[in-house]
Amino acid sequence: MSNMLKILIIIILMIVGIQDTPPKRGTIDKHFIPYIEQWNQDARRFLGKDYKMPTITIVFGKVDAFKLSMAGRPIGVCSPIPFDRFIMIDREYWDTISTQSREQLLFHELAHCTLSRLFHTKDMISEYRPISIMHPYLIMSGTTYYIYREYYIKELFTKNIGRTYWHAVITQIKNLIY
Ligand SMILES: [Zn+2]
Repeated sequence: MSNMLKILIIIILMIVGIQDTPPKRGTIDKHFIPYIEQWNQDARRFLGKDYKMPTITIVFGKVDAFKLSMAGRPIGVCSPIPFDRFIMIDREYWDTISTQSREQLLFHELAHCTLSRLFHTKDMISEYRPISIMHPYLIMSGTTYYIYREYYIKELFTKNIGRTYWHAVITQIKNLIY
């Protein structure tokens, strides 16, 4: 079987998998609400006070189902289809990370889904500081993110860099964010 065909079959299985228990469109799990409020505050600073987040569904779910051939354990995924924006976060992982890391993860997916930032970048400022939270891995600690937060938020809302699309390589921490 060709690789293209395999990928196509996996994508079809993924879509069927999602349809199993479809959350109502626009559902946002209550755990994400404080982060969404923070996102809206930041968005208004950089995109204008009239900013309004498009309708989006954000739920916990089995993100592993989205694993294609990439190395690492997926912890978040976004489907940026305009009429059905959809983010799914791995609950088990979410429960183990700090508030700052949760923000990094959710803001990464929100940028894919609502800012047209479809691309990842693996460029680094220093060993543990990516140039953007659109790095395909959650490699930066919550503390470092918190210290440089203003830089990352400004980068997120005002730039659109990156080359790799839905692509990742192995790093020391295998927490892949799509
Ligand atoms: Zn991503």
